[in-house]
Parts: sequence; C-alpha cells; structure tokens
Amino acid sequence: MTVKLSKRLQRIADKVPSFSRLADIGSDHALLPAYLVQAGIVTWAIAGEVNPGPLAAAAKQVKESGLTGKIEVREGNGLEVLCSGEVDVISIAGMGGSLIASILEGGQDKLSSVNMLVLQPNVGEDQVRRWLDRHQWLLESEDILEEDGKIYEILTAVPAGSHAKNRSEMLEALYQVRKLGPDKEIGKERQLQMGPYLLQEAGEVWHRKWQGELDKLEMIREQLSLSDADASKLKAETLRKEIQDIREVLALCLQKDKP
Ligand code: SAM
Repeated sequence: MTVKLSKRLQRIADKVPSFSRLADIGSDHALLPAYLVQAGIVTWAIAGEVNPGPLAAAAKQVKESGLTGKIEVREGNGLEVLCSGEVDVISIAGMGGSLIASILEGGQDKLSSVNMLVLQPNVGEDQVRRWLDRHQWLLESEDILEEDGKIYEILTAVPAGSHAKNRSEMLEALYQVRKLGPDKEIGKERQLQMGPYLLQEAGEVWHRKWQGELDKLEMIREQLSLSDADASKLKAETLRKEIQDIREVLALCLQKDKP
C-alpha cells in the first residue's frame, strides 16, 4: 500500500534530509515514517506512541505497507522510546507547543546524536521557539501553510552547541532587535511569538494567521473591558497595547507574496 500524505504532512516530510534515521514521536497512523521509508528518504524509522489506539494504528500501517523491519513501532512517552544514538532526525507533529517542549525537555539525554528536529506545533509555537533558544538549538527554518481552514507552522532546528561556532553565532544573532521602519523596533519577545523568519517573509498566510489572532485578542479585550474589577481593567489595557503593537508590526511587514 503506497502512502499518500496530506499537504501538512507532506510539507513536514519535505524537511527530512535523505538517508536519515528518523524517530516520529506521537506518530499515530505512522503515515509520516511510512511515506519517508517508501520514498527512500529515510533508511529506518521509529514510530513512537503513548496511546494504545494510535499505537495499534501505527502497527497496522507498518504491516499493511510491508515495512516491518524498516519501521519499529514503540510504545512509550515522548523520547523514552529511543536509545541514544539511534536516530539523526526527530519529528514531533500535530500537538500543542507546550507538549512538544515538554517532550524535548524530558528527553534531552536522547538528543546528542540528533542533527535535526522537525516540529509542527498546532498552537503555542512560541513555546517551541523558547525551548529551542534555551537549549542551544538553532531555529533554521520556518514554514507556514493552510489546509482545510487551519494554519500550521513547521519549524526545523539544528544543534548549535559549543562545537558548532557558526551556528552559535547565528543563534546569538537570530532574535536580535530589528528595526522595522524609522521608529519601530521588534524585540526578542515579539519575534519568539511571531517567528523571526516568518516576520521577514511576511507571507499572505502569516498575515491571515495574525489577523485571526488579533480578532481573538480583541474579543478577550472587549469582554474584560465590560468588567468593573481593577484587575480586569488592567488586563484589558495590557491587551490593548499588545493589539496595537501587533497591528503596527503587521502594517510595517508588508505582505510580500501578493498575487
Ligand atoms: N504526528 C501525527 C500527525 O501530525 O498527523 C499525529 C498527530 S496526533 C494529533 C498526536 C499524537 O500524539 C496522538 O496520537 C497522541 O497519542 C500522541 N501523543 C501525545 N502525547 C504523546 C507523548 N507524550 N508521547 C508520545 N506520543 C504522544
């Protein structure tokens, strides 16, 4: 059975370098590793799953695709399914950014042989960027796409420890304050939130994503402003400033891929 991927999974697959050994954590149906092994991109893979239903689905996929021996389905929480040195690439996709960050945090001892992380948080992308930044992983690329009315970001990162001088310099430079126009500066916090590369690309999907986020923030601000409580008023004012700042950023990051 030949595996066909959704647009989202295909864009994730496109990030995985040839001849890799891959661990796909939270693999569910194991579609990603099955496709990558069938396509000859990945030589061997682990499909990790913590829940019994998705674990069974992964095992079924591997059997039906004739990939037994090429993909090992392993049961366990996060990176505990791995032994050190087994894989070069880890993908974690389709979950919240805080869960992805906690999986990486809990499995740091398994990352020494890994030369690329491919991460696709459904929400909370900033938490993934923060984890990478704190642990000397250089965010190398950011992609954004829309499928079935949902917008997804795909982040890749490479190690930038003391042995990779160029990368550690790049890591230092990545979130440096940037000037947007004569009077506006974007600091690290905003870049962690909106994506340093996505900000520069300022594509149509990214603009749409942030327009949606602004609508959500505006709704919360309106709710808060109905309350007489001081704490709510304070929060509403903080949100008003946040909304204004994001609007200014969007206005200055002119959409570059207009049809
Ligand atoms: N990665 C696939 C994709 O992107 O299409 C499946 C995404 S699915 C929404 C998330 C999967 O992660 C679920 O199958 C869930 O059981 C699994 N999962 C959640 N937490 C996990 C953890 N700590 N360790 C391993 N798997 C986990």
